Amino acid sequence: MSVTIYGPREIAAIRRAGAAAAGTLAAVGGRLAPGVTTAQIDRWVREDTARRGGRPSQLGYYGFPASVCTSRNAVVCHGVPREDEALREGDIVNVDVTTELDGFHGDTSATFCVGAVEPAVRRLVEATRASLMAAIAVVRPGARLGDVGAAIVEVAAGAGFGVVRDYCGHGIGRSMHEPPQVSHVGRAGSGMRLRAGMVFTIEPMLTQGAPECRVLADGWTVVTADGGWSAQFEHTVRVTEDGCEVLTWPEDHVP
Ligand code: MG
Repeated sequence: MSVTIYGPREIAAIRRAGAAAAGTLAAVGGRLAPGVTTAQIDRWVREDTARRGGRPSQLGYYGFPASVCTSRNAVVCHGVPREDEALREGDIVNVDVTTELDGFHGDTSATFCVGAVEPAVRRLVEATRASLMAAIAVVRPGARLGDVGAAIVEVAAGAGFGVVRDYCGHGIGRSMHEPPQVSHVGRAGSGMRLRAGMVFTIEPMLTQGAPECRVLADGWTVVTADGGWSAQFEHTVRVTEDGCEVLTWPEDHVP
């Protein structure tokens, strides 16, 4: 399966799906507090997505049982919301929202701090956000996929954090997951050449310790092998004629 080059009408539709996902993420993120369960986050995402006319892309995807992934502390990604998992002061939690709207998908996630977190944890969260921004900054026609991973590794390594290799960004549009795979580790100047009209996610996961992962017995929840905490941020981007457009900025984003 080759990489789809999307045209203006399709891009407009992905932009609407991305805006819906970003809106839901911001709305839910604003309600997080100690005592909120991850199951409550799932209900909020389902309700807010419906209010925007969308459908949670993740619900039922390969049997995934919820509308959102909620990944807390040592959970790297694909955390399954649970009634018996309440947020506590000092936690971090990634909320990963994918919305299907009119047949197109938008995908975005952020890691939220619950109350006051340890300074070392805040550094992890901020470095992860910075690594995503550094990766977005290199996206333009003619750049290589390896440039994206290299930009992330540079920020992560500079701050003393690991980068997860086992899970990648991905093409997105008519499907939630399409080619290409977007690795968050890479060598500048290597890999597929980017072309205008490509749409994909960049979603680096950084770790306090080693980046090795394992999957829990539920078959979904990915945790760090060494128990260190992990943070993740994600945007859906498209390659424009001369650079990159982020399709999942929150409404209040100031360029
Ligand atoms: Mg996502």
